[in-house]
Parts: sequence; C-alpha cells; structure tokens
Amino acid sequence: MPRPIQVHIDQNALANNLHIARRATRSRIMAAIKGDAYGHGLLRAAEALAGADGFAVLDIRDAVRLREAGYGQTMLLLEGCFQADELQLVAEYDLSCVIHRAGQIAMLDAYPGRAALDVWLKVNTGMNRLGCVPAAVAPAMERLRAHQAVREITLMTHFSCADEARGVADQLEVFNNLAGAYRVPRSAANSAALLRYPDTHGDWVRPGIMLYGASPFADTSAQQLGLRPAMTLRSEIIAIQELAAGDEVGYGALFRADRTMRIGIVACGYADGYPRHAPNGTPVLVDGQLAPIVGRISMDMLSVDLSGVPHATVGSRVVLWGEGIPVENVARAAGTISYELLCGLTKRVPVHL
Ligand SMILES: *Cc1c(COP(=O)(O)O)cnc(C)c1O
Repeated sequence: MPRPIQVHIDQNALANNLHIARRATRSRIMAAIKGDAYGHGLLRAAEALAGADGFAVLDIRDAVRLREAGYGQTMLLLEGCFQADELQLVAEYDLSCVIHRAGQIAMLDAYPGRAALDVWLKVNTGMNRLGCVPAAVAPAMERLRAHQAVREITLMTHFSCADEARGVADQLEVFNNLAGAYRVPRSAANSAALLRYPDTHGDWVRPGIMLYGASPFADTSAQQLGLRPAMTLRSEIIAIQELAAGDEVGYGALFRADRTMRIGIVACGYADGYPRHAPNGTPVLVDGQLAPIVGRISMDMLSVDLSGVPHATVGSRVVLWGEGIPVENVARAAGTISYELLCGLTKRVPVHL
C-alpha cells in the first residue's frame, strides 16, 4: 500500500465554475491558468475549462504546450516577453503578449514580421506592480498603433482591492478615462470584480480563483456563489495516540493535553504542501466531522484531536481541504489565502481524477 495521501481534481467542478462565470458576464472569458492552473495541473484544467475563450499563463512553455495539445483559444502571456528572442515563438504559436513596460515595445522593434502580434498594453492604475503609468499610455499607444509588427491592441489593468471593501472605483475611473480615448478591447476584471462589479467587465474578464471553486471574498462563501471546490486533498489516519493530561504533542511540544484524549496522526505534512505555520485549531475533516489540528505540522505528518470523532481509527478518511471543508477556511486559520495553499501542493502527492 502506498502512503494514503492523494489529491482529487474534479473536472466537473471546474466546468461548473466556468459556467457560473459565464452566467455572470457577457464578456469573453480568459481563464487564468498560471501557476500550473493554481496547482490543479495545466492540461487537466485546460481540458475541463475548454469552453473558455482564452487562457492566461505566465510561462511561454505552457502556452506552447497548450497550443500543441490543440487549444486554439486566445493565449495570453501575463508578463509578456522577458527577452526579444521569444517573439519568434510568440508569432509561431499565435500567442498574445502583455506589454507592461517600454522596454517590451523596444523588443517588438527587433521583430521583422508584419501585423503578426497581438499585444495587451497593461496600465498601472494604482496597484504599482506592472504596467505603464497613465501618462505613458498615449505615447505607448501611438508607438504600438504605428508598429509594423503589431496586429491587435487590447488595453488591460489589474485591481488591487476588488475582493475588499475598498473595491475598484478609483482604479476603474482612471482606466476608463484612459481607455475612452481609443476604440480597442478592454480587460480589467479578476474573479472578485467579475462577481461583484459588472461595470468592470469590458471585453474580456480574467477569472482565476473562482474557477477552482474558492470564493475571492471573506464575507461570501464559495457555496453561496454556486462554486464547487475543484481540488480535494485527502489522506488517512495512520496512527492513534492516547494522551494523559500533561502529555505533549509534536516538535517543540506546542500542544499539551489538559485531559486524557485521543489524537490521530494523519499522513500529510509540509512536504506535501500543507502549511507548516497552521496553528492549533486549524480544521480538518475526519470521517466527515470537523476536528482541530494539535501540535506543529511535521514534514510528513500532522496530528488532530479526535475528541469529537470517537469512532475514528487507523484508516479513517481525512480531508485536509476541498469537499466538505473549503480551502478558504483552512487558509484563514493558517494565516494565508486559498491561492497559496492550492498552488503549494507538491509533486509527491499523487493525483486522482
Ligand atoms: C492571476 C490573475 C488574474 C486572476 O485573478 P483571480 O483573483 O484568481 O481571479 C487576473 N488577472 C491577472 C493579471 C492575473 O495575474
């Protein structure tokens, strides 16, 4: 018997979540599948999300992989090219390139083809990560429109607070004021904006996290949004310990029993991608019942208090996140976000469809 941990990827859930996005917008949908599709597997996710109008990736090799697997959708490189010599592949595979700094326009100058490249000019409307400042948009547009290598131009921006109370109003106003001067397609919305701010939708929306079945909002659950978790991380209890009052658990003796209690040792640790900083009390599901983690997460194991699950024993089924226990809840308890947990799953965890 192999170690009992496995991750289940539910392609029907991915398709369901794409359908929820479809129902929320009339814009074209660019599915964000960077980060190995947020840990779900690039090709596995693309197959389930094949109804999307485009795919957004980071790595040009992923874009090529998708083309070679037969996907004909718009394929956007989210950070564009890092080097001028990538433009050959961009043209050959008909990829779309983000242009977020002037140097990337200069790269285009070295490309000999005519009207061969679709570019997405990224505007920094307040996030201050990537994109040209508002004052640089007009000169950049002028250069791109006059450029012999450029075919279509799309204007894009990215919101910093679409999932928070602050919202998108300030950034959206800056973006709309700039984009209003041109007749080109626009794209701004991530999952949170897609779900909450229809006036951001433009021509292309760019959902990521919602497609994987996690809510982008702290105050609205995935279930309330009709989303289904696409990733379920499962394992089993591999040992039971009977503790007396005063007994301690795990490295650093971070947990001390104040009574007799049973704990279960679960085959899942930080080498699988479970967050090591998850504190006492972080929830897991044991035989369908919530149970709190006790003690520090080890490389290959973690411990749970079985007080609320008296019949649990070696072989009992454990769900770390996914079906029955939203990854957002685990992330919140562990002081992180669902994105990081989903992306952080490691290669040694076997995948089952
Ligand atoms: C990752 C990403 C998205 C998707 O964001 P979610 O919050 O996962 O919906 C959209 N746009 C850009 C530029 C991104 O990098």
